[in-house]
Amino acid sequence: MKKVLIIGGGFAGVQTAIELQKSNQFEVTLVSERDYLFMFPISIWIPVRKTNFDDVKVSLANIQKKYPFQVVIDRVTGIQASQNQVICERQIISYDYLVVAFGADKMQHKGIENTYTICGKPQQTLELRDKLDSLIQKGSGKIAIGFGGNPKDKSALRGGPAFEMIFNIHHYLKKKGLRDKFELTMFAPMEEPGARMGKSAMKAIQTMFAQQNIQKRFGKKITEFVETGVLFEDESKLDADLIMFIAAGTGSAILKNTDLPLSEAGFVKINDFNQVVEFPNVFAIGDAAAYEGPEWKAKQGHIAELMGRNAAHNILQIEKGTADFKGYQAHLNILCVMDMGNGAAFVYRDSKREIMIPMPIVGHWLKKAWGVYAKLTMTGKIPRIPGM
Ligand SMILES: Cc1cc2nc3c(=O)[nH]c(=O)nc-3n(C[C@H](O)[C@H](O)[C@H](O)COP(=O)(O)OP(=O)(O)OC[C@H]3O[C@@H](n4cnc5c(N)ncnc54)[C@H](O)[C@@H]3O)c2cc1C
Repeated sequence: MKKVLIIGGGFAGVQTAIELQKSNQFEVTLVSERDYLFMFPISIWIPVRKTNFDDVKVSLANIQKKYPFQVVIDRVTGIQASQNQVICERQIISYDYLVVAFGADKMQHKGIENTYTICGKPQQTLELRDKLDSLIQKGSGKIAIGFGGNPKDKSALRGGPAFEMIFNIHHYLKKKGLRDKFELTMFAPMEEPGARMGKSAMKAIQTMFAQQNIQKRFGKKITEFVETGVLFEDESKLDADLIMFIAAGTGSAILKNTDLPLSEAGFVKINDFNQVVEFPNVFAIGDAAAYEGPEWKAKQGHIAELMGRNAAHNILQIEKGTADFKGYQAHLNILCVMDMGNGAAFVYRDSKREIMIPMPIVGHWLKKAWGVYAKLTMTGKIPRIPGM
């Protein structure tokens, strides 16, 4: 049997492993630095204590029970695609096909160590939770929540979870009877943060900011984070006791130690079939890949999964000697149920439509239900509904 090596145990890598294992035609190995998949979309409830860290994890061992691919827990440090080899901290693994799915790194900003984040390593969600706890114990404070962009790749910006966090913190404080003791401010260097989600979503967010007394500091370039706040290019300062910042994504530093072609922002260059043109037995999927497509494109979990399914399908096509390849670009869209603490908004955008449907109360439970559904389908306990 030919060997397929998948690097990364997130949505993209796990989806590829499941699909290839189902085909029973390959020896499938997944290398991951952690032994669980972290369901980032529902991790936003960890800092506000609406969910536990362990409930956001899906153990790879549980997925393996249904889909018995091999799992190697190790950290990849380099790739030699010309020699079909992946270098890990403890071993070198060879392959016939490689699927790069190890996500992205975050851009580094001056003073970033003075910030907390919801979009970094899973453990960082706990640090944010503990910092929020300590402020709540103090009884008052200033909370600043923001995100930045990557001028070299707009698809690497991640703003949705920042909006979700600020609305969730608002409701969390309100429930505790402390909202009036806290100043909540959102900051971002762009004039219209969230514009990628479409005009109606933007309008709804602005209305909620006004209703919930959330201050804005938009259109100012960030120069530095300090212990007491955020400094901007115009020499102004946003004072804060807690700064939560989502830096934009950039290609994983490990990719510099590979012979793979990289985009300007350091992501793996691919064609529509997620294939690296220079190395046709290598695929890159999910946040690790350089997306091509419309200006509003965004790196999202459901696109990572779609790319995972496509990569598996395309590898099978190569083996069959047929060329019925599947591409991702025609399926690019922005899709999210943006949680607002006491409800959610369904946001959808593609090249033809921009939709925003407010879903008070039920939206929150819909997102929770998605989390349960995703876990059950990944572990093979219930079948997947086509397209979901
Ligand atoms: C807070 C938050 C909320 C989000 N909400 C949504 C949402 O509502 N809807 C949506 O569609 N998307 C959402 N996203 C985006 C979505 O989670 C990502 O697009 C998705 O996780 C990308 O999947 P991936 O498999 O490419 O990468 P990741 O999920 O980042 O997985 C990468 C994997 O590779 C492993 N890895 C990394 N480096 C190495 C290494 N050197 N060696 C071995 N293993 C390694 C990691 O441990 C991890 O298992 C959200 C993201 C965040 C952070």
